[in-house]
Amino acid sequence: MYGDQCTTGVAVGEDRAEGVKRRGLLVGAGTAVAAGITALAFREELGRLWWKIPGVDKQRTEGEVDQPGARWVAASAGNLRIADRPADYEIDRIVVHVTQGSYETAIRVFKDPLHAAAAHYVIRARDGQITQMARELDVAFHAGNREYNERSVGIEHEGFVDKPSSFTKVMYESSARLAADICERYEIPIDRKHIVGHNEVPGATHTDPGPHWDWDRYMELVRRAANRPKSTTAAR
Ligand SMILES: [Zn+2]
Repeated sequence: MYGDQCTTGVAVGEDRAEGVKRRGLLVGAGTAVAAGITALAFREELGRLWWKIPGVDKQRTEGEVDQPGARWVAASAGNLRIADRPADYEIDRIVVHVTQGSYETAIRVFKDPLHAAAAHYVIRARDGQITQMARELDVAFHAGNREYNERSVGIEHEGFVDKPSSFTKVMYESSARLAADICERYEIPIDRKHIVGHNEVPGATHTDPGPHWDWDRYMELVRRAANRPKSTTAAR
């Protein structure tokens, strides 16, 4: 069904409840440890180990992005689950989406706590501008499949599945650079097993990116971007 809105997957119902439960358990374990040692020692221990404990927030800077050059607009906290990837969940997939609406609309609905979905990135068709809306640390609800949400980074592309002209050259190229960088950050192989369409997610009810998304072209651009010299953009 091409008429359905992507933006983006349907969030799995238990997603948020599970997140609360998991974090609750961790807090409980920490309390038990604290009872055995002094509060000061516990704080020092926690300070030393915080980055090893899944579910304990890494220090975050407001407005920080994972992708250089991306602009930051925060999605509603209701459309994602705070996590500590890749420490708690391995990231080994990129999910490609098409918004079925405008760039502005996708950004607006991802800010809406009632939307129950958001992707990590949204890319604009006319110039390839990238807006990051969820940290890669976090589980954004975009794939409509809890396991895939936990293991993937979601990229929304402005356009319509039945309108090939919406997939601009500049958007393909911008997305390919982003995908190549994500693959490098998490050592994800650049192939169609690891870079998938929303329609290829198990149990998907969405059709995006649709038959007009040029996978051969996109994968070639991702490979090319992965091999580009990093030190000088002029040489690209
Ligand atoms: Zn989608």
